[in-house]
Amino acid sequence: MASRSLAEAAVPGGASGFSFSAAAGPLPDEVAADVAAACRPGRASILSLPFTSPAFRRLQEETEACLRRLLDIPDRFRVLFLAGGASAQFALLPLNLLGTACRASYVDSGCWSRRAIAEARRYAEVSIAARALAAIPDAAEWQVDPGAAYCHVTSNETADGLQFRDFPALPVPLVADMTSDLLTRPLDFTRLSLVYAGTQKTVGTPGLTLVIVDEHLLGRARPETPRVMDYGAQAGADSRLCTPPVFPIFVAHHMLQWIEAHGGVSAMADAARRRSDAAYAALAEGEGTYAISVDSAHRSHINPCFRLADEARTALFLNAADAAGLHDLRGHPEVGGVRVSLYNGVADAAVDALVDFLRAFARRGSGPCAA
Ligand code: PMP
Repeated sequence: MASRSLAEAAVPGGASGFSFSAAAGPLPDEVAADVAAACRPGRASILSLPFTSPAFRRLQEETEACLRRLLDIPDRFRVLFLAGGASAQFALLPLNLLGTACRASYVDSGCWSRRAIAEARRYAEVSIAARALAAIPDAAEWQVDPGAAYCHVTSNETADGLQFRDFPALPVPLVADMTSDLLTRPLDFTRLSLVYAGTQKTVGTPGLTLVIVDEHLLGRARPETPRVMDYGAQAGADSRLCTPPVFPIFVAHHMLQWIEAHGGVSAMADAARRRSDAAYAALAEGEGTYAISVDSAHRSHINPCFRLADEARTALFLNAADAAGLHDLRGHPEVGGVRVSLYNGVADAAVDALVDFLRAFARRGSGPCAA
């Protein structure tokens, strides 16, 4: 079938081996099988479920209820199911939250926070509360503008491998981009006023952006905000002001149930910790071959990033990894190096294989390496 060969051709290295892609997380096998079964042809296919149907409303309600249970989301927070990706939120945050203020504070922690900052600067006067490059400064040192409408952090810098372990209590509402670590750990909603995340990495498949927002922040949208992008308007319409992303919501529902059945977010946090510890330990053993720039206290449990000490060997490393069935390890184009992504759906067997490979590659030292 043409479509099948197209899909297989699109997967580098073929369907075998393991993907560590940062762009999208794998679905656990049982979730993928259930989703595939629901795509069967015919009237009951999830691919053509009308968003106006009672079945979709039930699906959306159950998805929200499961998300609330998993993250213990207080009642005063609203959950929005939006399209447009996390990048759209970079603009929608200032449009929705500035109100009559024109100032916002941002923590500059790497690649993704800088994109959020650049977009916010189109709408707001942005001040940098802190620079967190190899390490995150203590919150007591942050310079949050008390007149800012909000302060923004990127909880896990997907491209740089730096992660906030917890969130400080701030004098202004704290907003977190959790696109690469939502549902990988418990959250403290006494510290957070808004959390947003695209779902393609840890919660399912591309096309859905979750916004979890304290209702006190609703109703401040600038008049020019497109209505379908107005948090308050979408909250008032239960995210059905326009057609919501039905299929990604269905996948998220299955993924959330899978997370719940596997011990919830504390179990996801334990797994992320254990798996990233194993990867960092193998990298430390290979000191001389590998180098990590992020301070050990702030290394990501989700996206360990490193460089080859001899950067000229990066291509050799990536080719050898591909040949060993370990795919999609190339670092972000703006950062370079190597990046491992350990999203919720990555199998333990993938991590074990990667750790073995990291050790074997380091043992081979500077000699030729084919495996
Ligand atoms: N924020 C973070 C932390 C990300 O990792 C990404 C994607 N890699 C984005 C935002 C942008 O997401 P999207 O492509 O869905 O707009």
